[in-house]
Amino acid sequence: MQQILVIGGGVIGAATACFLARDHGLAPVVIERDPSYQRASSALSASSIRQQFSTAINIALSRASLDFYRRIGDELAVGDERPDIGLVEPGYLYLASAAGAPALRELHQLQRAHGVDVALLEPAALNARFPWLAVDDLALGSLGLSGEGWFDGWSVLQAFRRKAIACGARFINADAAALEVQGGRVQAVQCADGQRLAVDQLVLAAGAWSAALLAPLGVDLPVRARKRDVFVFDAPVQLPGAPLLIDPGGMWFRPEGGGRAGSGRYITGAPPRGVDADDASLDAIDHGLFDEFLWPALAARVPAFEALRVVSAWAGYYEMNTFDCNGLVGLLPGWDNLHLACGFSGHGLQQAPAVARGLAQQLASGRWGETDLAPLSPARIARGEPILEHCVI
Ligand SMILES: Cc1cc2nc3c(=O)[nH]c(=O)nc-3n(C[C@H](O)[C@H](O)[C@H](O)COP(=O)(O)OP(=O)(O)OC[C@H]3O[C@@H](n4cnc5c(N)ncnc54)[C@H](O)[C@@H]3O)c2cc1C
Repeated sequence: MQQILVIGGGVIGAATACFLARDHGLAPVVIERDPSYQRASSALSASSIRQQFSTAINIALSRASLDFYRRIGDELAVGDERPDIGLVEPGYLYLASAAGAPALRELHQLQRAHGVDVALLEPAALNARFPWLAVDDLALGSLGLSGEGWFDGWSVLQAFRRKAIACGARFINADAAALEVQGGRVQAVQCADGQRLAVDQLVLAAGAWSAALLAPLGVDLPVRARKRDVFVFDAPVQLPGAPLLIDPGGMWFRPEGGGRAGSGRYITGAPPRGVDADDASLDAIDHGLFDEFLWPALAARVPAFEALRVVSAWAGYYEMNTFDCNGLVGLLPGWDNLHLACGFSGHGLQQAPAVARGLAQQLASGRWGETDLAPLSPARIARGEPILEHCVI
């Protein structure tokens, strides 16, 4: 049997190993340096899923993955254990001022053409549906009516990992330090502890750390670690049915389980202020982002948030593909057996099932299967043909 190695056991690597083992009877080995996933994006994610993208491929991936997540209890059951990822579907609500409304209308056309269940709402309709929302400065909202929401990302990661192992995959705790290559082939992975693992097919799914392994081969992979802060807060208001809301200025928030009686718990974030630096320390939470930008924006949109209380905060890396903010999936040009599965730029958890199932099919049979992942081929970089995703949160 061919030896397939996967570097990185986050959601992308674990899901790929799962489909290889479950659907194709292969026995991949996943190399993961931190089985506790302290810094893995999959463990630090906001774990939300939407259909409101600006490209056909991203819409297709999220739709296929949503179907999988709705059935995950059956798909990834191990014996009597059926994973429960707590998927809820209250929608995403993109808000626009007068300046942003034409772009939202344009996106709406594209999304409807691809079957997305989404509606445009004028301020009066927004107010009727969400009485807690301040709408004076708004011109339009785009609300996902079904198929959008959030889930427990940690449970997804563990479910893929457990199922992969149950079907014959092996996870080893090691740090992949270097790739041993000859011609256009990777021969083996050298680990920091001295292990040498021979390989027939290699999948690079090392998230925000993927570029480091290719740099010594002279490959400049445009995947960078970009810190994103998330704040958890309680507020003396519950907003039943509230969607994940994206404000025109970039603030987002959504309800989160927990909180004291009579109050609601929420998470919120925004892109960083100023320079979006590479490899910023995950320990350096930008509390100024909350005090100076997020809180005023939250209170302006939901007046009851004026009295909020921050409970905690965390930061994780977006594995940002600086070329076009989309995943890189498939053979690296010029290489026979080096497959990429990285660079998902903040939408990898929701795309993991469809991406991993397609990649496993490609490795096993040379075909993409249900969702054609060819648009995500890394070859687009050399061709200078980005698939620009405009809806990156
Ligand atoms: C704050 C935040 C919010 C997010 N919100 C969402 C969201 O709402 N919806 C969504 O879909 N996505 C979201 N994302 C993005 C999503 O979490 C990622 O796209 C996804 O988790 C990427 O999975 P991965 O397996 O590629 O990477 P990771 O989960 O980072 O896994 C990579 C693994 O590789 C291992 N590794 C790296 N290098 C080596 C090596 N040399 N040897 C061995 N192991 C190695 C690491 O230890 C790590 O465990 C968010 C991310 C963040 C940080």
